[in-house]
Amino acid sequence: MRHIAIIGSGPAGYYTAEACQKQFGAEVRIDIIDRLPVPFGLIRTGVAPDHQSIKAVSRRYETVALSDNVRFVGHVTIGRDVSIAELGELYDAVVIATGAPADRPIGIAGEDLPGVIGSAAFVGWYNGHPDFAKLDPPIHVAEVVVIGNGNVALDIARILAKTREEFDGSDIVGHALDSLAGSALRRITFVGRRGPHQIAMTPKELGELGHLARARPVVDPADLPPLTADDALDPGTRKSVTLLRGFAKEDPAAAQKPVTVAFDFFAKPIAIEGDGKVERLIVERSRLDADGNATGTGETYAIPCGLVIAAIGYKTTPIPGLPYDEKLGRFTNVDGRIAPGLYACGWARRGPSGTIGTNRPDGYLIAEAIAADQPEPAGKAGRVGLDALLDARNVDHVTFRDWQKIEAAEIARARTDAPREKFVAITDMLDQARRE
Ligand code: NAP
Repeated sequence: MRHIAIIGSGPAGYYTAEACQKQFGAEVRIDIIDRLPVPFGLIRTGVAPDHQSIKAVSRRYETVALSDNVRFVGHVTIGRDVSIAELGELYDAVVIATGAPADRPIGIAGEDLPGVIGSAAFVGWYNGHPDFAKLDPPIHVAEVVVIGNGNVALDIARILAKTREEFDGSDIVGHALDSLAGSALRRITFVGRRGPHQIAMTPKELGELGHLARARPVVDPADLPPLTADDALDPGTRKSVTLLRGFAKEDPAAAQKPVTVAFDFFAKPIAIEGDGKVERLIVERSRLDADGNATGTGETYAIPCGLVIAAIGYKTTPIPGLPYDEKLGRFTNVDGRIAPGLYACGWARRGPSGTIGTNRPDGYLIAEAIAADQPEPAGKAGRVGLDALLDARNVDHVTFRDWQKIEAAEIARARTDAPREKFVAITDMLDQARRE
């Protein structure tokens, strides 16, 4: 029997498990280990709560989780409860699929001021991640800056801009819904260091901005390149730029909406200022250099704001002893191989890019690498060994059946028109898991 441990129960973890099932058939046992008592990682706490159709992919992972040769081992922390070296003794292959859950610093003066928040923390807060449930962001301000022109920036602006009614059908957590309802928001500014042609926002997600009840997107026509230049863009970016061109047109009906979502292009953040808390973001007008990078022009101006959310990309959390590429924010690896028997998959392998589905071929890549590197399993102890080790250390892990009890309780306590009300404290999750 071949034993595989996968660390992380998000998309990369489950796609790797699925691929290993296909690769090795009945001759494999797979343990998916997660530090939280609840599975699905990014699907649960990263994907926007008003994008339920994307979250529905967790049903596919559930099929994998409930198959005989896969199990979920929740509430077990690598480095505290068990080490990578110990897992390496017990399993033929250990796959790191921990995603990229940490914020990258902006690297400018003033980023430690109260009121400057990274997107991982902010998204975690409205999605009920236990690490960020108590964040209490200062959202009762009139002006918010979101740094970055990617899909996470879009998610954040949309969540800030929506009315309470627009959250019907979402699983935004109650503390965020209540807090957002009291918002005095007037203006959200996306700060992009490059231009419209360089945006990383995809058309479907960008299009949603044009259909919000109380908010209207606004683009300065002067920032748009000549129309003919759009011909050189890839089809997706061209669609996004066409949407931006629409946002640049006068729309008397939309002008009545009380919240403006403004795109400030060619604006490079250089400092955050304020007396004890954020009051303004200082940006330098930028232009593209020959390589397409943003270069400063020397002209600076201030954008007043009471909250700055940096949505500039994520990084993987390092694990002591594993080679880590600081610049790329992921484990050093060659096609997923970190060391003999040790692999990285998904964002932990490639860095934070692509859609949920991009992780599927990643899973197959790893399954094939394991098969090529170790044609025959080495007769290791696998899950029996892990259970003995966890028992000896009094680590009370959570099974997939336990998670289903947590999930049933979340569904039972949901608001009207919400699919669930998540538990945001680990103790509450464990209480539900332990119910008879
Ligand atoms: P992203 O797509 O890489 O976008 C990051 C943005 O931050 C870019 O506009 C980048 O500008 C900007 N940026 C980076 N460093 C900066 C700095 N120091 N100062 C100013 N701006 C800076 O990352 P993301 O938005 O976090 O998304 C991560 C991945 O998840 C992406 O693949 C995204 O498509 C995916 N995602 C998908 C969905 C969805 O499909 N619904 C939702 C959320 C996320 P430059 O281009 O100039 O570097």
